[in-house]
Amino acid sequence: MSLPTVLKVVEVATATDIGLVRDHNEDRALANPGLLAVADGMGGAQAGEVAAQIAIDHLDRLGGPETGASLVSAIEQANEAIVEQSSADPDKSGMGTTITAISPQDGHLRVAHVGDSRAYLWRDAELRQLTSDHSVVAELVRQGKITEEEAESHPHRNVITRALGADARVSVDSADQVGKDGDVVLICSDGLSAQVSDDAIAAVMAAESDLQKAARVLVEQANAAGGIDNVTVVLGRIETAEGESATTATAEIPAIVEEKPKRRTRLSPVALSVAVLLALAIGGTAWLWSRAFTVQEQDGLVVVKRGIPLSVGGLPPQVTWQETGVDAAAVDAVEPASLSDSARGRGEAVLLATRLTWQYGFGEAPIIPTPPPAEPEPAATPDPPPATPNPAAASTP
Ligand code: MN
Repeated sequence: MSLPTVLKVVEVATATDIGLVRDHNEDRALANPGLLAVADGMGGAQAGEVAAQIAIDHLDRLGGPETGASLVSAIEQANEAIVEQSSADPDKSGMGTTITAISPQDGHLRVAHVGDSRAYLWRDAELRQLTSDHSVVAELVRQGKITEEEAESHPHRNVITRALGADARVSVDSADQVGKDGDVVLICSDGLSAQVSDDAIAAVMAAESDLQKAARVLVEQANAAGGIDNVTVVLGRIETAEGESATTATAEIPAIVEEKPKRRTRLSPVALSVAVLLALAIGGTAWLWSRAFTVQEQDGLVVVKRGIPLSVGGLPPQVTWQETGVDAAAVDAVEPASLSDSARGRGEAVLLATRLTWQYGFGEAPIIPTPPPAEPEPAATPDPPPATPNPAAASTP
């Protein structure tokens, strides 16, 4: 009885470059012996790199080696963290990232990914792709609607169908490969795989036994091909050893085994890509919608409205959030500026509506029975909104 096989990453190398067109690098990489990963961030301002860094941090925290389930769980948690930050901070609204990770664990290469950053295996002088892109063109190729060659020059080749940050839930693909002595794993952003063909990547791997040199040459080739995107490459050389690990790896699995084919969607690839883009847009719009309040006239009365005057992704354009019963004409005659379309925060809108209610009165209710020291403004109680303020409650008998 032999000891179980243990995979060890004995050498890692990483190279990244901003490329020749972009103004900053939103790719992030992780090259721990126990866990290798690449994240390709997207989003305005610096948001993309924030999302990519969150994804990398969640994996870095694991350390490795990790099971496939543990990689998937960390990626799902990263997704939640990105969605959370993106909805809490307007500067990060709509940010997202790809993530592709490999961990050598119990004789296997555990792979998990979302998006179009690829994992390859360089084995026996052959390059095999371990991941299948979550992209529109990859889906079209899988459906036989376009060829690999057509995919390479397709105008929408950079449109992905899955990303972290697009939705509160994400479907992470995982795969599993029995590792072999001498394997080299390669993870890259689409800055490499969309610019440099698999054959050209294989040629570099064959020519350069020094991993750091190989990583650098691959990045150089992406830039030589136009450098239209950030490019990142992570390489890891695998050796096997007999170890104290619990599981044996004996049978060679010739192809990728999808561990758990998650729910399959019936959406067409174009619908999927639109869904991702829409989700990002809706995230931002929903954020704006939830925070925009206006005090305005409706049917002759002053109301507080919530939302923005736009209808996007099923959000109602605006809803009446608070009715005051105050005659809008009376307010308009004295201070027309207080009734406008300009959005305010909820607290500010409620304060204004409350003041107008108290100042201009409504129905038969008295304005303020015994006003305290000439200051008619009520205390700020923005949440929940006082629908019909009761002046008596605020005054002493
Ligand atoms: Mn990219």
